[in-house]
Amino acid sequence: MKIKSAKFIVSNQSIEKCPNVNIPEYAFIGRSNVGKSSLINMLTNNKKLTKTSSTPGKTRLINHFLINGIWHLVDLPGYGYAKVSKSEKKEFHKLITDYFTKRNQLVSAFILVDSRHEVQKIDIEFMKWLTINNIAFAIIFTKIDKIKQNGNPNDGIEFKINNYKKVLLNHWEYLPKIFLSSSVKHIGRDNILQYIGKINATVTQK
Ligand code: GDP
Repeated sequence: MKIKSAKFIVSNQSIEKCPNVNIPEYAFIGRSNVGKSSLINMLTNNKKLTKTSSTPGKTRLINHFLINGIWHLVDLPGYGYAKVSKSEKKEFHKLITDYFTKRNQLVSAFILVDSRHEVQKIDIEFMKWLTINNIAFAIIFTKIDKIKQNGNPNDGIEFKINNYKKVLLNHWEYLPKIFLSSSVKHIGRDNILQYIGKINATVTQK
């Protein structure tokens, strides 16, 4: 899929205020600082579409972007940031729960995972919650340029991803769709956009 246009539509704090149009929607979410803004900017070929955050966890908004006039890319707030108050956490929880359980336009979520880190309980718990609620998701491993490739079979990106897959298979019978990305090296863009394009084609045929 070629990106012909990427337009910011609206930022808001409640599901009721999300755009009231029936076009396919893809939501991007992950722990704070996972590289979500950078990834969205890379996907849309727009360095400024979302502001990359120097203060993780600060934005608690649902952001809608209209892509090529036919689908929405949704930037959801990052989770798991320790330095937020209990009431902020509660608010965030409600926002995310509302979004995923009520937003009928949602076709698939993309869960972003920092490829450098060990498997995080919060990510697995979130994926489990999505599964229980029948919400489709794919995983994007971000920042793969930061993983050293030194030829050691117990190291490197393949080892990391295989390890992650093993953990997933402890909880699920099938693996979700998995993508690798680097916003710095411009990796993963074509695969992710092609995947969205293919789903869009089937969704709009219905
Ligand atoms: P967000 O908080 O999830 O939106 O993450 P950002 O996109 O703001 O990125 C957090 C930090 O990681 C910033 O310092 C980015 O420059 C850096 N970053 C994001 N993506 C990549 C990547 O693919 N490779 C590298 N090396 N750094 C990245």
